[in-house]
Amino acid sequence: MATVVMEGLSKTYRGGVDAVSGVDLEIRDGELIVIVGPSGCGKSTLLRMVAGLESITAGSLLIDGQKVNRLEPAERDIAMVFQNYALYPHMTVFDNLAYGLKNRGESRSEIRRKVRAAAESLELSELLKRKPSELSGGQRQRVAMGRAIVRQPKLFLFDEPLSNLDAKLRVSMRLEIKRLQRELGTTSLYVTHDQVEAMTLADRLVAMNGGRVEQVGTPMELYREP
Ligand code: ADP
Ligand code: ADP
Repeated sequence: MATVVMEGLSKTYRGGVDAVSGVDLEIRDGELIVIVGPSGCGKSTLLRMVAGLESITAGSLLIDGQKVNRLEPAERDIAMVFQNYALYPHMTVFDNLAYGLKNRGESRSEIRRKVRAAAESLELSELLKRKPSELSGGQRQRVAMGRAIVRQPKLFLFDEPLSNLDAKLRVSMRLEIKRLQRELGTTSLYVTHDQVEAMTLADRLVAMNGGRVEQVGTPMELYREP
């Protein structure tokens, strides 16, 4: 459970590129917000600031009322799924899923229980002994999702997680992500340049352009016929 509040959030890169300018946005507990906009409009930068991978130039960013610059990335309790999800090639699916939990020092029985539950909800139960090289693209993407959900973070961040998949798989994974997000109720921020993907997934959409937020609303509000 988490809320995220951005006020006047801005990022200027060294060299003077204003990637994100004065963004005001509140992400409510359990909500799935999709940020949509053309390449270069600042989506990734915004996400990376929430993740703590990018410093903030101006404005404020609160996660559950705490200023993020006071929080180490590890303390933010965030899981991120990228388009270039890197699985550990020498590890089995089970060990890929278990990795983060082992690092947190959880007990073996606790790890086994959580990994099995995540594998179950992502239809990976039969594949736990395989290596990533023995999986299809869609199965690998599901393992990447599994790694995020197994940790039960308070916030999910998705950066174009489906853009390397073929069209058919993209549609089914989209539904999968929506179902999982509803089921888990984890506050989520999802970035894509694909408007259809954005409309299918979003509780609320944020349309960005040139580093600014142009519109915020539900898919119905933003895309209804005039
Ligand atoms: P998007 O995710 O919407 O494609 P980005 O957030 O990646 O947009 O980029 C926004 C703007 O910031 C672009 O003009 C991009 O070239 C620039 N930018 C992104 N990362 C850096 C960086 N590390 N250094 C300098 N400029 C960057
Ligand atoms: P995206 O798919 O998010 O648009 P990009 O291809 O724009 O990704 O950027 C990939 C990486 O390069 C990111 O880590 C981004 O921060 C960095 N980057 C993007 N634009 C620039 C830039 N103008 N200068 C330096 N780094 C950049």
